Amino acid sequence: MVRPHCPRIVSGLPAKRYFKPIGVPRRELCEVVLSVDEYEAIRLADGEGLYHEQAAALMNISRPTFGRILQSARRKIAEALVNGKAIRIEGGVIEVADMRRFQCDRCGRSWEVPHGGGRPEECPYCHGLEIHRAHDLASTTRGRRRCGHGGGRRRCRE
Ligand SMILES: [Zn+2]
Repeated sequence: MVRPHCPRIVSGLPAKRYFKPIGVPRRELCEVVLSVDEYEAIRLADGEGLYHEQAAALMNISRPTFGRILQSARRKIAEALVNGKAIRIEGGVIEVADMRRFQCDRCGRSWEVPHGGGRPEECPYCHGLEIHRAHDLASTTRGRRRCGHGGGRRRCRE
């Protein structure tokens, strides 16, 4: 089933494109290939905890389409975990968005919005209306943010 579609907007490419079980030579591994839009769906829905509707809007696709991409992504990741396969992230009809970061004064959380999408009206997490652009954060944390949760920052550098 092939149908043409518009590029799906993603906020960036994954920092790591390949995951494998330890102790198994790569040539002996089966792989599942996760497209970059599937990776983005996982990141937004499960990583950031956004509602499907919000995530779909960020990717410039319909909510049902987002649901299908997310389902496919979860199935592939489950297949890799359960069957000990490697995960390669590549491909997909995508467009990398130029992102602007906003921060909520009420809950303190921040999130990114593609350029040209207009200023968000409320915080996607707490629906607070006191939001502002987070200029400095966007430029200084962009590279580190992907390294995970505190500590080990140096080891994450490539
Ligand atoms: Zn908030």
